[in-house]
Amino acid sequence: MTIESLATGAYLVAALLFIMSLAGLSKHETGKQGIWYGIVGMAIALIATIALALDGGDHGGMTTIGIALMVVAVILGASIGLWRAKVVEMTGMPELIALLHSFVGLAAVLVAWNGYLMVEAVGDAQTEIAPDLLGIHHGEVIVGLFIGAVTFTGSIVAYLKLSARINSKPMMLPGKNALNIGALVVLLGLTVWFVITPELWILIAATIVALLLGWHLVASIGGGDMPVVVSMLNSYSGWAAAASGFLLNNNLLIITGALVGSSGAYLSYIMCEAMNRSFISVIAGGFGMEAPSSGGDADQGEHREVSAEDVAEMLAGASSVVITPGYGMAVAQAQYPVAEITRILREKGVNVRFGIHPVAGRLPGHMNVLLAEAKVPYDIVLEMDEINDDLSDTDVVLVIGANDTVNPAAEDDPTSPIAGMPVIRVWEAGNVIVFKRSMAVGYAGVQNPLFFKDNTSMLFGDAKERVEDILKAL
Ligand code: NDP
Repeated sequence: MTIESLATGAYLVAALLFIMSLAGLSKHETGKQGIWYGIVGMAIALIATIALALDGGDHGGMTTIGIALMVVAVILGASIGLWRAKVVEMTGMPELIALLHSFVGLAAVLVAWNGYLMVEAVGDAQTEIAPDLLGIHHGEVIVGLFIGAVTFTGSIVAYLKLSARINSKPMMLPGKNALNIGALVVLLGLTVWFVITPELWILIAATIVALLLGWHLVASIGGGDMPVVVSMLNSYSGWAAAASGFLLNNNLLIITGALVGSSGAYLSYIMCEAMNRSFISVIAGGFGMEAPSSGGDADQGEHREVSAEDVAEMLAGASSVVITPGYGMAVAQAQYPVAEITRILREKGVNVRFGIHPVAGRLPGHMNVLLAEAKVPYDIVLEMDEINDDLSDTDVVLVIGANDTVNPAAEDDPTSPIAGMPVIRVWEAGNVIVFKRSMAVGYAGVQNPLFFKDNTSMLFGDAKERVEDILKAL
């Protein structure tokens, strides 16, 4: 049996493991198993790819320099990856993921350039690609370059926005939709031209236009819509990898890229549904969205404050309590004392449940992961749609570090940047306690009228410290 046929078999096993990994990751209970399938699949894929590169089939193996470079790259990449994964805080995950997507995009751009330069280096007559397939090859080069470049700069903007290095508000250049459509038309023209006459300047021009388009598409989307952007870039990074797979003639890369691309696209679609946004509009850089005219800056009146001891008393006398966590719970790492309060109240016979908004935190499923980490039982963790109808019969709602996801302006103010986004209607409960450190706005940059409602009281300070104060008082 040749190394090539062994590697093909290994690729098939790895592809199956990746599919099983996705299936495992779709449920809490099987999530860890899913991760292991992915790790084993990737290890098999790496070993098979390295064996293939060393063997080289009919074309001879790699040079000693090539092998040394590959070993250094694998050791360096694996060490940096392990170190980052170990030190990253849960709250830093979204920006790390955005950065990793940008690497996939950059790799696809380099593979595309390599695909072009390899043919140029030896000339059309000498290349191993059949003459009648050269047009297709150049088509693959430019498509891979386009997807890769858009993913690269788009992911860098997402990284900058998620890590608060730049403002999360949408950039509204005049004629932004015309700019995007214009860039697409230019890229289409350059693609046709390049396939007919593959000249260097066309590739340079296409690279620049695609890089600018990726930057502009993501910069035009506001903070409230960033969850969709993150999953959309995840999808793009998959398609970029698949495009590289075609250029490198690597079937596993094509399959894996298509798996990531299609599952990411479906996730973006689900997120758009959950947030009442048009899928097409978001992937087209906010096409058709008007610049929001209101940040909710109007005078909202006075807010009221409450002490941890008063909240403890309120909780002890309640028969039903709903907890809606948000990004602030992740920042404060308050999930452990929150789980402890839940346990104590449930022992006292209080009906405690959690209401989770689909985009709470900074990652899909962010709150579910934190609560699972703190061992909160799954059956009391409900989705927004499952809890919203019960809120009017709830005595106390604890809003722990959530802001945009409980903002009534989404329903009441059509000019708000988050208008139309479904929210958890906490204000329908008897009493609402909001845990945060100040009156600052949430990620979408909009003031929250909830804080000024008659049945709302603010409990200021770090969420973990305040929840621990309540625990002591209970
Ligand atoms: P927000 O980001 O709207 O608000 C979080 C609140 O937590 C802030 O108002 C902040 O107020 C408070 N906070 C921060 N640190 C602490 C702390 N240590 N203790 C107590 N409070 C704290 O949170 P939500 O979860 O409600 O909304 C998520 C937002 O992020 C949405 O706009 C969503 O679209 C966006 N997003 C979501 C992604 C996802 O996939 N889930 C991805 C990207 C963006 P203060 O500073 O006053 O303490």
